[in-house]
Amino acid sequence: MSNILVIAEHRSGVLRPVSLELIAGAQTIKQAGDKVVVAVIGAQADKFVSELSVEGADELVVVKSTSVDFDPDIFEGVVAGLIQDKAPKAVLIPHSVDSYGYAATLAAKAGHGFATDVFKLEYDGADLVATRGGYNQKVNVEVDFPGKTCVVVTVRASAYKPSENKGSPAVSNIDATGTASRSQNKDYIELGGGNDVDITTVDFIVSVGRGIGEETNVEDFRELADEVGATLCCSRPIADAGWLPKSRQVGQSGKVVGNCKLYLAMGISGSIQHMAGMKHVPTIVAVNTDPGASIFTIAKYGIVGDIFDVHEELMSQLA
Ligand SMILES: Cc1cc2nc3c(=O)[nH]c(=O)nc-3n(C[C@H](O)[C@H](O)[C@H](O)COP(=O)(O)OP(=O)(O)OC[C@H]3O[C@@H](n4cnc5c(N)ncnc54)[C@H](O)[C@@H]3O)c2cc1C
Repeated sequence: MSNILVIAEHRSGVLRPVSLELIAGAQTIKQAGDKVVVAVIGAQADKFVSELSVEGADELVVVKSTSVDFDPDIFEGVVAGLIQDKAPKAVLIPHSVDSYGYAATLAAKAGHGFATDVFKLEYDGADLVATRGGYNQKVNVEVDFPGKTCVVVTVRASAYKPSENKGSPAVSNIDATGTASRSQNKDYIELGGGNDVDITTVDFIVSVGRGIGEETNVEDFRELADEVGATLCCSRPIADAGWLPKSRQVGQSGKVVGNCKLYLAMGISGSIQHMAGMKHVPTIVAVNTDPGASIFTIAKYGIVGDIFDVHEELMSQLA
């Protein structure tokens, strides 16, 4: 009998969906008698109690700290304390810009097992095995942790379907306002397009990838999106090139389009990182010249063809 510790994540007063995904992920390694302990840290952590009271969470620890938002020193100190107190066999932390700031040092200082960007956890006999990508996501790598009684993993968003049914964990409170920090969060600034549409809330997306070839072609697909009442989004290379703002990027380091019902992927190959932001969409339509493109593995409807031909045909039908 052991504990599995899940660290919830919130930003600007909003609980991040990955928190509920990790509670679901914890169930996959829960063994008879184990307890899933969820911890939420922050000056207003208590406001997340209801949202985190879901099936699969056995205990909820509300940790009051001095910082409203994420703070690396406070999170590291608090989670280290929780590990001492709860002696978990595994600690699941969202793989995000927050965990980049403290998960590695937390594990290294105490000599825990450690793996990042994990998308699968399972037991092989008595050994915990974490699966993550390797060689730029070309292969899956299984990591085990010989001799480690506690393993810290950062888990990729969208790896698990979120735990959503209501639950009734035992709630306890800890005061960590004495935990020191060397920094102070002033503000969060969205990279590029700060006042842009919030793509996590829209229900119809036309998304363009490197298949559009040149920046001048973006306007054609913006026109198509406008005509059909969709929001124009993109894969990372398009945002990196500055052809569309970062706020339109879908994927692991972009946004998860949680509300989208219809996603038209134009010239997008379907990398793991892109799919992390949209694979849950009920109706995915993909257009790609390569019949072997990964995007077709999750598309409901696929067109093996040129996006410019499809664009022309759609525009002529809409005229
Ligand atoms: C840590 C990390 C985080 C990342 N985060 C993200 C993220 O959030 N979002 C994201 O998208 N990527 C992300 N990436 C990058 C990701 O690995 C891929 O490189 C990227 O998704 C590829 O974008 P793409 O599909 O547009 O381009 P490509 O992979 O180059 O695919 C272009 C596709 O277009 C097709 N094509 C070309 N011409 C045409 C045409 N005329 N008609 C039809 N099809 C055509 C090709 O067959 C190809 O399949 C991340 C990578 C890392 C390492």
